[in-house]
Amino acid sequence: MRTLRTLCLLFIALSYTACVTLNETGQQKLILTSTEQENQMGEEGYAEVLQNAKVIKPNPLYSVLQDVGSRIAKQANQPDFKWEYNLIEEDQLNAWCMPGGKIAVYTGIIPFMKNEAGMAAVIGHEVAHATLRHSGQRISQQMGLSAVLGVISGGLQNAQNHDQIMALLGAGSTVGLMLPYGRKHETEADLIGLKYMAKAGYDPQEAVAFWQRFAEVTKGNTPPEFLSTHPGAGTRVKDLQSNMGEAKALYKAAPQKYGSGRELSLPKQTKGGK
Ligand SMILES: [Zn+2]
Repeated sequence: MRTLRTLCLLFIALSYTACVTLNETGQQKLILTSTEQENQMGEEGYAEVLQNAKVIKPNPLYSVLQDVGSRIAKQANQPDFKWEYNLIEEDQLNAWCMPGGKIAVYTGIIPFMKNEAGMAAVIGHEVAHATLRHSGQRISQQMGLSAVLGVISGGLQNAQNHDQIMALLGAGSTVGLMLPYGRKHETEADLIGLKYMAKAGYDPQEAVAFWQRFAEVTKGNTPPEFLSTHPGAGTRVKDLQSNMGEAKALYKAAPQKYGSGRELSLPKQTKGGK
């Protein structure tokens, strides 16, 4: 019986296994999970984070986040995503997008974003991680077949590797497990994110300005989960600059332009962090 069960599980697993061609890069990747499963995990993980976080109710900054988020989402063109954009009051230099378009921005990173375009740079980067299915790739590479099957059959809440999955989905800081993306995924997210922001009508040069501000302040400190140690800020800025020609052309062609957009300011009660 046991063997039969194992064989059945293996069969199910193999039917999920697919060599996926990603739209954004045209690359082929082996991903054990389907987009539906990843989105489901994202949905569960998101609900869990929001339940335990201080979510900021609608205010001017929240409205800006809805505007920027939906403009980036439009460029990402993911009909299966159910986009949500939430602002969490916490002094963390962090932002993420879980599979399925579940976005969180922490108030701690707002001063570094500075303006709408800085926010668009960060959200573009995080959304690119989601559209490139980096979480699915990480889960497939790092968890192994049996663990993936466990999550698929039992749901994220009950999964044995709950914390690890939360971290692979991008929200590791909420469970105290930091698993930053690898260098290759970071570079991909930077460049695709740059295109998203430019097409959405935000000045792409502001992405460089954001990373420069961010690198300056985080210098010497442990990098937040959102900013992996690789590539270094210098490489990052250089890569963005060398793709600026294309990004500027996309920006020029954008039907509506916002430049650097509105300046961001934190609601009064959140100023100064905790
Ligand atoms: Zn990243």
